[in-house]
Amino acid sequence: MTSNTRVVVIGAGLAGVRLARRLGELGASALLVGEEEHPPYNRVLLADVLAGRYASEVISLPAPERLVRARVTLIDRRAREIRCSDGSAIAYDTLVLATGSNAVLPPLRGLFTAGRTELPEGVHAFRTMDDCLGLAKAVREGVRAVVIGGGLLGVSAARALAARGAQVVLAQQAERLMERQLDPAASRLLRRHLTGLGVEVHTEARVRGIRTLGGAVRSVELADGYALDTDLVVLACGVRPRVGLAQDAGLAVHKGVLVDDELRTCDRNIRAIGDCAQHAGTVYGLAAPALEQAEVLAELLARESGGAGDPGARYTGTRSLTRLTLAGQDFLDLAAFGETDARPGDDVVQLADATRGTYRKVVVRDDRLVGGVLVGELGTVGALARAWEGAEPLPADGAPLLHLLTNDGGS
Ligand SMILES: Cc1cc2nc3c(=O)[nH]c(=O)nc-3n(C[C@H](O)[C@H](O)[C@H](O)COP(=O)(O)OP(=O)(O)OC[C@H]3O[C@@H](n4cnc5c(N)ncnc54)[C@H](O)[C@@H]3O)c2cc1C
Repeated sequence: MTSNTRVVVIGAGLAGVRLARRLGELGASALLVGEEEHPPYNRVLLADVLAGRYASEVISLPAPERLVRARVTLIDRRAREIRCSDGSAIAYDTLVLATGSNAVLPPLRGLFTAGRTELPEGVHAFRTMDDCLGLAKAVREGVRAVVIGGGLLGVSAARALAARGAQVVLAQQAERLMERQLDPAASRLLRRHLTGLGVEVHTEARVRGIRTLGGAVRSVELADGYALDTDLVVLACGVRPRVGLAQDAGLAVHKGVLVDDELRTCDRNIRAIGDCAQHAGTVYGLAAPALEQAEVLAELLARESGGAGDPGARYTGTRSLTRLTLAGQDFLDLAAFGETDARPGDDVVQLADATRGTYRKVVVRDDRLVGGVLVGELGTVGALARAWEGAEPLPADGAPLLHLLTNDGGS
């Protein structure tokens, strides 16, 4: 069946590509407009490319049937068309924003000097394949690298650079690594793991600026005045939804483009999914919600285009766990979900094995699992994720907590 509606998607990342593929399966189609030079790829695996574990082609996504390479610069809602930087215009009946996020460039002294908009030589963001290939080219055995930011992205980057033989310093402003996901004990294990790989971890280390010489980075300056000499800097200071096009077009935007349960913006002909969208107050910035939103939207748009598809499909939020697999010789697997710090009155069960470097903890409030963290031993992750995602009351026979942590059946 051919599509009766021209569905145009801005962004050929995880969400856009999944939407197009699912629409195809449902007998409809979409035109993707993406600015990146490379064939669409799985961004989540960029650290593995940086580490030299995968060639860049290995992380390609299935090629969409209809893809135009262009940067969209304007949405003309009245004419229902988008304009691209090459001067072309593309008409739509339904427009989908899947523009993802940008890396946050922190306001560091010396980062942009004298009106320059390009990062100094040796300073890299870590968001795109171009960022990754640029970094991969610059890294060699013994090169000194400072990673700014100790969240999921910074930890992945530090580990990948260490795997390439770089001397890595990780500067984390918070008091522990991955503080949004991990509790102190899990964070300590992660730190021990990174230290074992030769990464020097500094927590509560606020970076104030960078110093350059001849346009190239030379050192990173900490707030206490200490300077870390370096050849490379990776900025892993978080991401910000790409909402510029939506804002310019007058759509309702808070942190992300506001959408309802049908992923509809305030313009009924424009939808938004993935990192750029904000649903029920939440901008996820993670792969699982982006894919789930794409699946729901495919059902709705396929139906509107005259194909198969469930007109009752709705997006009601994602309760997904964060999982980080640090592959390679010194393998480390960790997963975290929900609230990993207990409140007074919560039940907590913890199992730790310092020798094996494993740690498991769940937090239960009343009769529900509200969070957990697993390091090194993920046999129970499937059962835990199901209990958490389902938000079902736990059985009241007294034994479920320990059972949840030790039963690895069915994961
Ligand atoms: C190194 C790294 C590791 C990560 N690891 C994890 C992880 O372990 N787990 C996890 O859940 N998430 C992880 N993430 C986050 C995850 O990659 C994102 O949540 C996911 O990619 C969001 O998909 P998206 O399609 O919304 O955005 P993106 O994948 O960013 O795709 C958006 C696309 O739109 C294009 N675009 C934007 N504006 C325009 C325009 N005006 N014209 C044309 N094209 C445009 C962009 O160039 C981009 O290609 C990681 C991210 C990075 C960078």
